[in-house]
Amino acid sequence: MPATRLDGKAYAKQIELALAERVTALKEQTGRTPILATILVGDDPASATYVKMKGNACRRVGMDSLKVTLPADTTTEQLLAKIAELNINPDVHGILLQHPVPSQIDERACFDAIAIEKDVDGVTCLGFGKMAMGEPAYGACTPQGIMYLLEQYGIELAGKHAVVVGRSAILGKPMAMMLLNADCTVTICHSKTQNLPQIVKQADIIVGAVGKPELIKKDWIKHGAVVVDAGFHPTENGGVGDIELRDMDDIASAFTPVPGGVGPMTINTLIRQTLEAAEKAATKNV
Ligand code: NAP
Repeated sequence: MPATRLDGKAYAKQIELALAERVTALKEQTGRTPILATILVGDDPASATYVKMKGNACRRVGMDSLKVTLPADTTTEQLLAKIAELNINPDVHGILLQHPVPSQIDERACFDAIAIEKDVDGVTCLGFGKMAMGEPAYGACTPQGIMYLLEQYGIELAGKHAVVVGRSAILGKPMAMMLLNADCTVTICHSKTQNLPQIVKQADIIVGAVGKPELIKKDWIKHGAVVVDAGFHPTENGGVGDIELRDMDDIASAFTPVPGGVGPMTINTLIRQTLEAAEKAATKNV
């Protein structure tokens, strides 16, 4: 039997329709449009593209984005001042600081300056801590999007051994905590891990979050595993992920294709969480 394709592209589209209905209802109820503030510092073309995609996704569901563009020589203090302004702006429901910022800026301090109720990208230490403790918080968008996708396809998590390859603050670490909270037994691997192939071989669920094209080989993957690939590396034929996905039909029980698996879920989760923040703000103002 062929492996199930965990089709993030199709699921994200389906969610967008439901979000658009909720946005319409909120506008009717409050007369206000949910707004995501996007902050882009400097002129990195890839970051500019991501910010544009996020703004477009907001508009597709009837929300707005407030685009803040700052020069490449912005200081930490200047960026903190801008975030403080957005934190108290009642028209702004979510704040997205596009990563990475120029090296002279203390990115962690700036992420942590985002008000918790507007941290719809799930980047603050406070938000991470709350999520890890099982308290309400917006999860980092890529791992949260992966969790939504696994849930949609009815992938069983409790008791499974999940191996997360990568431990970044935005992806590997929150992914591991989310899987742990879903009752997986979790192993986290990183660049100093020894015997990576043998560890991956034990995984019922494997998450590639490593940032290196096809680093995780198909021969390392256990028959019947669920394979989640967060990576995307453009190639002449479209792109590859962090996992060698060839022949997955013969190996995996389910896998995320690249492209069209994890990628579309990330921005989708960002706008979903922005809408949730706007809905919560509306409840407080009633
Ligand atoms: P990152 O910050 O560069 O982190 C990569 C992680 O992989 C680090 O923890 C690193 O270990 C580990 N690593 C590197 N080489 C390794 C090796 N040989 N063996 C085992 N572990 C190794 O990357 P990231 O931001 O988490 O992104 C990871 C991937 O996800 C990338 O492909 C990125 O494009 C993708 N991504 C996709 C989305 C999306 O929207 N779809 C969003 C974010 C990221 P150390 O900690 O020891 O250095």
